[in-house]
Amino acid sequence: MLLLFYRALFGAVVCIIFGFFAYLTKQLTLSGTIALFFVGILLTTFGSWISWCLMLLFFLSSGLIHLIKKRFFTAHQDLIAEKGHTRDAQQVLANSLPAVLSLLLYAYTSNELFLVGYVAGIAGATSDTWASEIGQLSPSTPRSILTFKQLPTGTSGGITGLGTLASVGASFLISISFWLLFSLSQMNGLISASYFLIPFFSGILASVFDSLLGASLQARYECVVCHQWTEQTVHHGQQTHLIKGLRWLDNDKVNFFSGLLTIVVAGMLWRMLQ
Ligand SMILES: [Zn+2]
Repeated sequence: MLLLFYRALFGAVVCIIFGFFAYLTKQLTLSGTIALFFVGILLTTFGSWISWCLMLLFFLSSGLIHLIKKRFFTAHQDLIAEKGHTRDAQQVLANSLPAVLSLLLYAYTSNELFLVGYVAGIAGATSDTWASEIGQLSPSTPRSILTFKQLPTGTSGGITGLGTLASVGASFLISISFWLLFSLSQMNGLISASYFLIPFFSGILASVFDSLLGASLQARYECVVCHQWTEQTVHHGQQTHLIKGLRWLDNDKVNFFSGLLTIVVAGMLWRMLQ
């Protein structure tokens, strides 16, 4: 019990430092910083150093890509996305909660299925974030994952070659890091490749789920002033008009559901391969 308390305390200190930095560099809003604080304390209290490393890798790599993009590719602006890059609580929780739930189940049951689920969840969140950040730089116009029709850059459900490559790279980075770190911690040579392959494939699937939901059920609006497609409910100071999808299903909820689905798929693959 005392150990858990010290771990929580350690987590609080680390999260205050990271949260402060993320807030100052405008990666997180105030509510996003508070959400990160709670997620971070759960992670440090109930996770291992490996699970912290993976979450860090997700946040740092996504932040770095964003900073590089802002520095060198200023012409690319998010016009369609519902929110800017500064993540609020809903965005932080939508991206991290499915994985954190899986990690809590692992802490409670010690069943490695949930550990692999956690890695898949983080791989999926990273994959989806990289795909949308890097995909926006694609020289070719995105196409709908469902109809293959051209879509304006930044529209949910649109995919590009560059974005797809980024999502594969992100999932690879998280999964291979986990495989190597977990092997290192077992001190018994390299562990079974399924610890790498399952999160890797599930992580790629996460951005596929995300695009499929984005192209089908996610709410899409049209501005009554400029007639541009948007995910914002207000554009040019006017209430936008719903043209497609379910009103309650915004980008954050799509991220959350595709995160959950990713973990379920990872769990099923794990069961099949055991
Ligand atoms: Zn407008």
